[in-house]
Amino acid sequence: MTMRKAGVMGWPVAHSLSPKLHGYWLKKYGIEGEYLALEVNPEEFAGKLAALQANGFAGVNLTLPHKELVMSMLADMDSDAQEAGMANTIVIRSDGSFYGMNTDSYGFIENIRGSIPQKNKAVVLGAGGAARAACYALAKEGFKHIVVVNRSLERAQNVAAAFGGTAVAWEDRARTLEGADVLANATSLGMTGKQTLEIDLAWLPVSALVTDLVYAPLVTPLLKDARDRGNRIVDGLGMLLHQAVPGFEAWFGVRPVVDSGLRHAVLGGGMIC
Ligand code: NAP
Repeated sequence: MTMRKAGVMGWPVAHSLSPKLHGYWLKKYGIEGEYLALEVNPEEFAGKLAALQANGFAGVNLTLPHKELVMSMLADMDSDAQEAGMANTIVIRSDGSFYGMNTDSYGFIENIRGSIPQKNKAVVLGAGGAARAACYALAKEGFKHIVVVNRSLERAQNVAAAFGGTAVAWEDRARTLEGADVLANATSLGMTGKQTLEIDLAWLPVSALVTDLVYAPLVTPLLKDARDRGNRIVDGLGMLLHQAVPGFEAWFGVRPVVDSGLRHAVLGGGMIC
């Protein structure tokens, strides 16, 4: 069998954890394949994508801005990519056409599914692409009430409207935690080098699950505060690991498992900070 190849196209791409992640699975399942980091600038993107099949690639992951640029080049896409308006995973079909998937909402829900106490109220902080993916997943999962809280209220209203949710102003973020089963931070606040997420958790039930999409650091100040008051927490690294599953399966023909060995391999035996 010929060596199958996949990779991540980005600009920049050096920070990507995907090569470690897919490299772990290739080794674990004894697959003769390769997963490469491909630094491709936006001007060259269309040409480089078109040349992939001839170079033995089964597909690629994409980071911004390529996730959006690719949309006009797709022959077909899944409903998640359609809903998000961007595709993070591309499969090259035998006729050379491109199939686009967005696996963020899958990754989000798989990461927390086993820790959800009840499916009544979820509060999502943020209204960017990650928040949309989280809301889409929560709505599909059957949450009755989705609250979107964002600094720019108009963006929160747009996201909330798409999922039959409620938009809440950023200033009211603490009070809206009352009765929540899930709190998800999908803003970039709390990330290393960014501002801290300031939120008073007093209104949040202790039974609620708190998850942060930010995974650098692994335990964000939000997760630490939540854990200290007794809430169950799930970090954002699991979302990154789970969202990689559908792509790996499509390219290499094996549905991989997210396990502690994978986490360890991606963390490189240490912490992300
Ligand atoms: P994005 O589209 O740029 O959205 C950023 C969000 O953060 C917006 O809602 C923005 O509010 C809010 N925000 C930024 N600075 C703020 C501030 N000072 N005060 C209040 N709100 C602020 O980014 P994204 O793609 O959705 O990603 C969001 C985060 O999720 C990033 O940290 C990303 O790394 C993470 N993520 C993780 C995974 C994973 O696998 N774990 C996957 C995807 C994304 P405004 O709308 O008001 O600007």
